[in-house]
Amino acid sequence: MAQDRESSALLNDVLDAALEITGADMGTLQLLEDGVLRIVAQKGFNAVFLNFFEGVQGGDQAACGEAMRRGERVIVEDVTDSPIFQGSKALETVLTAGVRAVQSTPIVARSGALIGMFSTHFQRPHRPDQRELRLLDFLSQHAAHSIEREQVRDALATKERQLATITENVGSPITMCNRNLRYVFANEAYARLIGRPVGEILGQPIADVLGAEAFETIRPSVQRVLGGERVEYETPIVYPGTGKRYMHAVYVPDIDVDGTVRGWFAGLADITERKRVEEELRRAEAELREANRHKDEFIAVLGHELRNPLSVIRNSVEILRTPALDSQSPATLDMLERQVSHMVRLVDDLLDMNRVSRGNIEFRSDRINLADVVNRAVENSGAMIENMAHRLTVTMPTQPVYLAADSERLMQAVANLLSNACKFMDRGGRIDVSLASDTRWAVIRVRDHGIGIASADTRRIFEMFAQVDKSMQHGNGLGIGLTLVKAIVEQHGGTVEARSDGAGRGSEFIVRLPISAADLDESANAMSDAELVIQREILIIDDNRDSAQTLSELLQAYGHKTHIAHDGIEGLEAAQRLRPEVVLLDIGLPTISGYDACRGIRGQPWGEKMVLVALTGCGQARDVLSARQAGFDHHLVKPVNYQTLQTILAAIPPKDPRDVRGPLN
Ligand code: ADP
Repeated sequence: MAQDRESSALLNDVLDAALEITGADMGTLQLLEDGVLRIVAQKGFNAVFLNFFEGVQGGDQAACGEAMRRGERVIVEDVTDSPIFQGSKALETVLTAGVRAVQSTPIVARSGALIGMFSTHFQRPHRPDQRELRLLDFLSQHAAHSIEREQVRDALATKERQLATITENVGSPITMCNRNLRYVFANEAYARLIGRPVGEILGQPIADVLGAEAFETIRPSVQRVLGGERVEYETPIVYPGTGKRYMHAVYVPDIDVDGTVRGWFAGLADITERKRVEEELRRAEAELREANRHKDEFIAVLGHELRNPLSVIRNSVEILRTPALDSQSPATLDMLERQVSHMVRLVDDLLDMNRVSRGNIEFRSDRINLADVVNRAVENSGAMIENMAHRLTVTMPTQPVYLAADSERLMQAVANLLSNACKFMDRGGRIDVSLASDTRWAVIRVRDHGIGIASADTRRIFEMFAQVDKSMQHGNGLGIGLTLVKAIVEQHGGTVEARSDGAGRGSEFIVRLPISAADLDESANAMSDAELVIQREILIIDDNRDSAQTLSELLQAYGHKTHIAHDGIEGLEAAQRLRPEVVLLDIGLPTISGYDACRGIRGQPWGEKMVLVALTGCGQARDVLSARQAGFDHHLVKPVNYQTLQTILAAIPPKDPRDVRGPLN
């Protein structure tokens, strides 16, 4: 028994009482610990005696040892003629300590178990009388009772300490609540979860601490545990401190001896991370299954795709072998060639796809004219378009669009789009191809009027082996063409997108490729040779009459229609009256500044889409920014580089498509 101050006072009191009852000179009080009697209180002994009898076991040569063995009091009237001590080292020790007589009375618990022993020692041979012995018995009972109570109190304190150590170190949130739905206990981990100190949680209603929403989540489980049931659940809970966490909870009812549920213990575990990992695993598994399914389908489609040309080739070989048939027939040879080319294309696509998926496809970076790429793709698809009797329109910009790119690959991408347009449209349909550019993007569009794509599929079709229609009624294909297109376009820093108004309403594939500043300069320089075919209506607002006049003449010489105004207000009125497509605005103007005039135009519904170009003497970043803020589309420094201006004019989308006359239509 761990001796705190209270319990050692109790033991000393018992010993004092025993000494007083027996009138003894010396005494010890021992408690039984792990089968050994240990002295916990003593009077009148020196260290030699205490060391000798430090731990006594049943049957040891000592009155207490004998009393322990017998389970009853032992009285030794004279140690010198007691058989207990005869010839022993113990005798010498007790005699040296001045002891001639001793009595040892066991302290026995109500259960009958030995708790300890008190012994009183006399300097002369002595035997306590009957009255003293009765009082000793009474003292023994009283001592047993008190010691037992102390031991229970100690054991309880130890348990509490152990429990506190466990609950605080376990790391998992633990609480105990009562029937009135208030906290009775909460550990630090729970306090952290809630985001409030333990002191602010204890005694509070659960609904107040958790908040109404979280309390509603756990309410059904609380009802069940208060019904005496053990409850275990996993659910997301939004905590006031830590937000939404996924929790695993075990509720165990706290049931009284009479069967009443007084409350419950809750052990919680934050499984948010586990759930996230599980979710990721589930998704990865689903993706794997999907990929596997794709692969199986792909192999099936591939088999089908190869069987068709192979059977034609086999038939043709048979024809060649049969002397009776005209083996030199051009039809047979054409057929052979067509099927072999088809197979070559399939195998090429497969090899490309393989390289793309392993990321080791090589891209060249040559300066190319994108119009050439589109034209070559159109030429390549010519036979296919003709076979299907489709009509084709091609719209090109008036000026070349230069790009640093891989013309072969881009051609392949556009050809794939054209081939799909052919495939997924009934005979005699219409395909529109266009190339356009502004200062940042070159945009290629391939539009058909075929079967269209459901909106749910417009992204999916770019995945490898993806095919919307598995019935193969639209002929050959492995579901890799669009994956290749996407890979090629993205390799050039661009994007590809599919649009469709839905099934049966045609599809449009839009490829956007970024244009760098260097590409733009190249295009501008090339403009000097380009034939101008779009006429723009342009308003020039400049107070310098010579400057306005010369610019106007130059623009007219290139076929544009021009108007001139000489100050801000006059310019605003002219813009309103004439509604030109483009306004070239000097900034330093009389009456109102070019910025104000720009804001005035932009503020009108008719001015929203007008192309407004600032002409200034200053090209600092600040000036460019001011121009942008005022609503200008472009900012040019005087003297204006005519080619740059022409690039801007040419990039404006035509008001009427018939304005455009490209090289191919
Ligand atoms: P494939 O043409 O070999 O099936 P793609 O990757 O080129 O493979 O196309 C994937 C799928 O996208 C096609 O199977 C088809 O369902 C759909 N698709 C592609 N282009 C078009 C189009 N122009 N119109 C309608 N659906 C299309």
